[in-house]
Amino acid sequence: MKPVALKTQVSSGGVIFRRHDTEIEVALVAVKDGKVWCLPKGIIDKGESPEKTAVREVAEETGLKGKIVAKLGDITYWYYIKEENAKCKKTVHFFLIEYESGDTLEHDWEVDKASWFPIDEAVKKVRYKGEKVMIEKAREILLKQI
Ligand code: ATP
Repeated sequence: MKPVALKTQVSSGGVIFRRHDTEIEVALVAVKDGKVWCLPKGIIDKGESPEKTAVREVAEETGLKGKIVAKLGDITYWYYIKEENAKCKKTVHFFLIEYESGDTLEHDWEVDKASWFPIDEAVKKVRYKGEKVMIEKAREILLKQI
C-alpha cells in the first residue's frame, strides 16, 4: 500500500440568521441520511473570495439568500479520503449572514434537509464542536445588537 498522501482544502460557509419576534433563528442543513446537522459551506472555487463562496454556498445548500454582516472565524480539521488514500487538512471560513429572501424548501439535492432553528437549539443540534463555536460567536454578536 502506498504511503498516505497529504492534501489541503479550503471551504467557506455561513451562519445565516433571521429575527422572528424576539427570537433569533439560524438555518442548518442535514447530511448523512439526515442524521448529521451542519452549517452550510463549500469549497472555494479558483479565484473566488471566501465571502462570495459563503453567500453562494449558503444560497445553494439552504435555498436562502443573504448579505454578510461580519466574519466569525475559521475552523480546521483533518479527515481521511479513502479513495485517494489521503489525509486532508481542511480549513473552513465562516461568516455571519443576514437573511434577505428565499425558502428552505428550495434547498439543494446535495443535502437531505434544510431548516430554521432557534439559535440555542442550533448550537445543540450541530454535530461538530467547531461549528458550535461559530454559532455561539454569532449569538454573542447578535445579542449585543438588541
Ligand atoms: P464541503 O461542504 O466543504 O464541500 P464535503 O461535504 O466534501 O465539504 P466535509 O463536510 O468537510 O466534506 O466532510 C468531510 C469529512 O469531515 C466527513 O467525514 C465529515 O464527517 C467530517 N467533518 C465535516 N465537518 C467537520 C468538522 N467541523 N469537524 C470535524 N470533522 C468534520
